[in-house]
Amino acid sequence: MNKKIINGYVAEYENGVFTASKKDIYVIDGKISYSGSSGEYEVIDASDRLIMPGLINMHTHAYMTLFRNYADDVSFDEWLFKRIMPVEDRIEKEDAYWTNLLGMIEMIETGTTCFSDMHMFEGQSCKAANEAGLRAYIGRGLVGDDIGGDGAERLAQALRERAEYESDTIRFILSPHAIYSCSERFYSQVAELAAREGLLKQTHLSESVFEVESCYEKNGISPVELLDRAGFLDDKCILAHCVQMREGDIELLKKRGATVVTNPASNAKLGNGIAPIPAFRESGVNLCIGTDGTASNNTLNMFREMSLLSLMHKGAERDCTFLSANEVLTMATVNAAKALGMEGSLGIISEGACADLIFLDLTATSLFPNNDLITSLCYSANGSEVASVMVNGKMLMKDRELLTIDRERVYSEVRRIAKKYL
Ligand SMILES: [Zn+2]
Repeated sequence: MNKKIINGYVAEYENGVFTASKKDIYVIDGKISYSGSSGEYEVIDASDRLIMPGLINMHTHAYMTLFRNYADDVSFDEWLFKRIMPVEDRIEKEDAYWTNLLGMIEMIETGTTCFSDMHMFEGQSCKAANEAGLRAYIGRGLVGDDIGGDGAERLAQALRERAEYESDTIRFILSPHAIYSCSERFYSQVAELAAREGLLKQTHLSESVFEVESCYEKNGISPVELLDRAGFLDDKCILAHCVQMREGDIELLKKRGATVVTNPASNAKLGNGIAPIPAFRESGVNLCIGTDGTASNNTLNMFREMSLLSLMHKGAERDCTFLSANEVLTMATVNAAKALGMEGSLGIISEGACADLIFLDLTATSLFPNNDLITSLCYSANGSEVASVMVNGKMLMKDRELLTIDRERVYSEVRRIAKKYL
């Protein structure tokens, strides 16, 4: 049923700036409208609520909630190769469905309405996102040297899930894992396929010093240059991390129109460093924010990520005007929509945009006394203020009650699964 949302403050974006003002909006056939026509509406009273575009988490691995606090305070190598990967290899596909749902509960509860995922288990992220009602860009993690050889099986899984699940809210993204698990030829082949199929591409890039130095040793060029040589970098390319940039890398990314997703918590926690955000900003590269998976963050909470990002760089730059709340919010909404080719449709409240909305409780202590609704989203909100969440016009959570996921069931299944593997 179409909805009329009354009495709320609405966060709108115009000329690069978010402002909030009191107004009524309509949701008609899953889209935002400022004028209702005659007909029946479900009226939603949004008194004491700030309505803003849902946050877009541009890099995560939703199934990894199983690993939350499983391998903290260990080295990157120990973390990935000794703790996470050996368990991942043993996880049965159906179990990943439940750990995905746990991740999606956390996303909904903290105001994420759309996410870009890289996963290991055919169909499970799609199935879970479909049920949760979240908007998702799903990518089966790909590895190998040849998409027709050792990479064929995973690619076939990616294409199968696309054929089965592609919809208004579930989209697909080709996702070679990283330059240490995929060859240059593989990246070229994936780039060709993506161009042919009109698909987005994502990968992990230049995450650690080790990755970059190994790349120089093996290829004599940086990881960014390697992907450029492979023809992988363009405006449909989304690159997670980009912490360790070398000379010329950033200019090249800008020239090719690629998007960079910064993951400040994950990069800091794994000791990989702090991304060169000042240089990215200067170059004009499209910058977005991701949480990465819970094994390395350890939350999927975009409010925490926004706050951390702004504070970390203000401190590092010794500049309190650096990365304003407005700019960070733009990264988590408008810039993400741009990267996904959905500018004007996602990450924004405007006529005709998708009704992916979150409603924050302005009576929450952390936001009170509401002196600046926009800056509070970056510096004060912790995600618990999110009262209601709507995606594509459908309510996923109303006044903190989850409407699409059975929390008790998910908890009990994930408890069983953790006991089984960890
Ligand atoms: Zn990742």
